[in-house]
Amino acid sequence: MTDQRDRNSTILEGKTGVILGVANKRSLAWGCARSLADAGMKLALTYANDRLGDAVRRLAEECPGSITLPCDVTKPDEIGEAFRTIGDEFGHLDTIVHAIAFAKREELQGNFFDTSKEGYMLAHEVSAYSLTAVTRAALPLMEERQGSIITLSYIGADRVVPNYNVMGIAKAALEASVRYLAADVGPRGVRVNASSAGPIRTLSASGVRDFNTMLDQIAEKAPLRRNVTAEEVGDACLFLAGPHSRGITGTTLYVDAGYHVMGV
Ligand code: NAP
Repeated sequence: MTDQRDRNSTILEGKTGVILGVANKRSLAWGCARSLADAGMKLALTYANDRLGDAVRRLAEECPGSITLPCDVTKPDEIGEAFRTIGDEFGHLDTIVHAIAFAKREELQGNFFDTSKEGYMLAHEVSAYSLTAVTRAALPLMEERQGSIITLSYIGADRVVPNYNVMGIAKAALEASVRYLAADVGPRGVRVNASSAGPIRTLSASGVRDFNTMLDQIAEKAPLRRNVTAEEVGDACLFLAGPHSRGITGTTLYVDAGYHVMGV
């Protein structure tokens, strides 16, 4: 792994990126931040509320040259201000990692048909619509940079995963958004892709009822007979951000030990 990191150490030098969704060291966003920073990218790390600001600032110290700033994606003014600041600080933007999602805990258990209208709208606003809002705000900074926008999805977008419920519907909307956004911004040289990760124990994941059962099922049935790590999701993000994926847009890349190819 060290050798691989060394080989990657300059591939993104001179590039800049913003990572939305670092809550702590377990966050998939943090796995992405580490892979991109190790490859030389200068990063802006955003946080949703002041409660997490100090923790994110401490983590940012591990990513040379990085900055931190607030960005609650339910607040259009905050999105606008975040990208104005990134423009002032970096001048341009090469990569966005959108690694945020939210649904009320009570919506992540029981029957999907019990989903409230408010819970449905909130899950979609934070987990799906925000990709479109962020893309629109960032586009002026990304044009002519051959930029790459990456979001994180889950197999619950395609298949019924018990208790994932409204988040599965939001992820389906997210993956469709990836395709529409890719068609919109492709002529401007910007790519948009999703990475569909296998289950990984994080703060958000702990809100899904019986999450451990999902982990056990992957370890038992996935072709690689194991779960994946945030570092592996980060390295797929490095691929999607970097020059080796320059011909790929509008797609969903699975990082799930191959589980998605299995019948059950
Ligand atoms: P996480 O560490 O809890 O990260 C989720 C992030 O979303 C947190 O930083 C959270 O900030 C942020 N967020 C929530 N509401 C927000 C808002 N209104 N504005 C801005 N940020 C907001 O969990 P994670 O598992 O790494 O999740 C990252 C992404 O990976 C999500 O899209 C998730 O669906 C996806 N994913 C996760 C798994 C998994 O098994 N863990 C698998 C596949 C895909 P606060 O903590 O401040 O609310």
